Amino acid sequence: MRRCPDCTVEVEGEWARCPLCGTTLVGEPVPGPYPTVPLRFSRRRVLRVLFLTSLAVIVLSFLAQLLFGRDQDGIGALRSVWLGIVTTWLVVVMAVSKRRNLAKFIVYLVVLAGGVCVYWDYLSGWSGWSLTFVVPIVCAASIVGLLITARVVRIEVGDYVVYSGLTVLLGLTPILFLALGWVGTVIPSAICGGLSVAAVVLLLTVRGGIVRHELAKRLHL
Ligand SMILES: [Zn+2]
Repeated sequence: MRRCPDCTVEVEGEWARCPLCGTTLVGEPVPGPYPTVPLRFSRRRVLRVLFLTSLAVIVLSFLAQLLFGRDQDGIGALRSVWLGIVTTWLVVVMAVSKRRNLAKFIVYLVVLAGGVCVYWDYLSGWSGWSLTFVVPIVCAASIVGLLITARVVRIEVGDYVVYSGLTVLLGLTPILFLALGWVGTVIPSAICGGLSVAAVVLLLTVRGGIVRHELAKRLHL
């Protein structure tokens, strides 16, 4: 059995680090006492919801281009709708395959995609398209991915709390850039902010009571 040299406790199961203090365990691992619980979701349902969402987004983007005319300022951004679809798919696929680090993954994704595009924008003579379009699109698509995950995968209460917090963060990021005046067109950031508010309301109404209880417990209210 594995042992923690700091806490001098024995740890059953395949832990690499001590669950109490995080110190690297020593000794040979033994099989864990609990059966592994499979993640409850239907692969078919996940794919169907993803396909339908992507289709709806593509149709909406074409409709918007038809309605508002192609020459209008900023309408070209609707052609980067694929960026949002790719992000949504990435978030949901990550959630389904390795959901423990989903929040970290989304933060990395936004920082990486945003960072690369800001640098690209800077190299090609700053016009602000990275902060105006890419950041809100990636943030909004991540929120959509989180909502789909919460809808199709049976997630734990603690994850609802994390998802809600992350949704607020993702909504605030473009709003912050907007407030700082770094953004060319207001609409994408505003849509992302609005989506974030709607998503939090949705997440909290679905499992509101339990989430409030969990929050109160964690914040010692
Ligand atoms: Zn320990």
